[in-house]
Amino acid sequence: MTGDGLDAGGRPSGRRLLRWWRSRRALNPGRPDAPAPVDRHIAFHRVLDALRGDGCPACALVARGVSARLGETLREQLNDPTSRLRLRRSLGFCERHARTALSLAGALEMAILCHDLVAHALRRLDAWRSGQRPAALDACPECAAERRDLAEVVALIADLLADETVRSAYRTSAGLCVPHLEEVLRRSPEAGRAWLLEEERRRLRALEVELAERIRKADWRYCREPIGPEGDAHVRAAIKLSGIAPESGRA
Ligand SMILES: [Zn+2]
Ligand SMILES: [Zn+2]
Repeated sequence: MTGDGLDAGGRPSGRRLLRWWRSRRALNPGRPDAPAPVDRHIAFHRVLDALRGDGCPACALVARGVSARLGETLREQLNDPTSRLRLRRSLGFCERHARTALSLAGALEMAILCHDLVAHALRRLDAWRSGQRPAALDACPECAAERRDLAEVVALIADLLADETVRSAYRTSAGLCVPHLEEVLRRSPEAGRAWLLEEERRRLRALEVELAERIRKADWRYCREPIGPEGDAHVRAAIKLSGIAPESGRA
């Protein structure tokens, strides 16, 4: 992604899309789900891009937002007092977001950040040693930001699934993971919900049949039958049920 919020293809980044979504709501208070035509064009292409990926489009859009925000924190806000104070209150990130930060940051950036946090952890231990009780640590700030992003991505997808082009892309995509499917169903208008329900029931039924076939062929009576496409159904099911990245599922 470039510094102006565009990705390598010159399209708005996931984070910029979310910013647009917030501003869209502010500009359309009477009809919060009615995007302006030009904005719809931007959102359209971001969702279509996400649908062309290997996994759940909601997971992908949220992950892009996390990467953009963490990257900015590590590159541009490292010396910002407000940002540092926020990270000191939680002593950094949770395990999942610390892994993402390590994958995004250079050694020097992480050393600068961790130096500040280790020094703060030591000050807390000094307080404990002198009989004080430091305030409880805050939760990971990136987890809270991610939850806000997810709520907006879910609303965006629920809105755009009314469009035939997006539906067509959805049909050939991996579809939503089950947790995000439930969220989108909750936010979808009735017609969109009915369409999405049928689409995902078809996928889950096919997966159910493949899993049953995988289990059947483990039986001694049928174990000589060759394993077909159902061989990795358990991996695809685990990805579908949890939203874990396909790369992790194949590992
Ligand atoms: Zn997902
Ligand atoms: Zn976190």
